[in-house]
Amino acid sequence: MVSPPRGATRPLKIAFITGFGRSGTTLVDNILAQVEGIFSAGELQYLWDRGAADDRLCSCRRTFSECPIWSRVAADALPDADPAELARLAAVRESWSPGRTLKHHLSGRGPDEATASYLDRLGRVVDTLRRETGARVIVDSSKSPGHGWLLRRLPGVEVYAIHLVRDARAVAWSWQKKKIYDDSGPEPMYMSRHSPARSARLWSVWNLATEILWRGDRRYLRMRYEAFAEAPEKALAEILGFLDEPADRLPFTGPSTVELNDLHTFAGNPSRFAEGPVEVRPDVGWRSQQPAGQRRLVTLLTWPLLLRYGYRLTA
Ligand SMILES: [Zn+2]
Repeated sequence: MVSPPRGATRPLKIAFITGFGRSGTTLVDNILAQVEGIFSAGELQYLWDRGAADDRLCSCRRTFSECPIWSRVAADALPDADPAELARLAAVRESWSPGRTLKHHLSGRGPDEATASYLDRLGRVVDTLRRETGARVIVDSSKSPGHGWLLRRLPGVEVYAIHLVRDARAVAWSWQKKKIYDDSGPEPMYMSRHSPARSARLWSVWNLATEILWRGDRRYLRMRYEAFAEAPEKALAEILGFLDEPADRLPFTGPSTVELNDLHTFAGNPSRFAEGPVEVRPDVGWRSQQPAGQRRLVTLLTWPLLLRYGYRLTA
């Protein structure tokens, strides 16, 4: 929900929601978007392929090219982008794996030529979003450590990392669920799935890479998703304080009930289509449903970080 531009000379704030997938990032993104002055772009890193090339459905139920926000972004930032250029942009994004990003970060090297032109495009996208929405804060829940590293190289923006961490066993359980995209055509389109071992390995890599990349940066907040789900109002106030944004008008209609409206995200978890009152509840189904062997395997593969984040090994 946004209002006319205020303090246009201030750097734009980008609230970058990071962490591994299935850690509640879409929900936190959607709730933040209900606060005055904040616009959510969803998983902005997929703009080139899922947005511009594939013309997927925005949460406003119009396609990317018909959405009033994203059609303007495409017209302003991608007027000359043919399918080959969109594919090139997606390939540059994919090249920024956590491993490459860490190597680059630790070596202190700047972006190469292909990445510099990628940043030029991304900067134009962000400028258009700012102008079109008048937002003081743009939420980007792309999560990927590499995308966060690139965002921080854009001129004229302040990037705030909100690192959401969720119990690796709950995350592994969620990655096995069959989830269908809401914008599937006649052929159902499923979200990708990971085995428990793969999910555990990626959970460690992504969380650790995020911590290393943001070490020593005062614009970094780590929060457990479980804490958010337990007390969403308190957690949202904490996030807004971190973003240096007023927290006096929160979008809650009950202690854990939030009203979701006016969303414009074209990529991400199917829950981005949620509208109206949504009850935020801790999702603990995995505790009773996950086979014990699987839980032990994930614990064995992730225990150092589980302990670091305050989770019990005997969950
Ligand atoms: Zn839209």
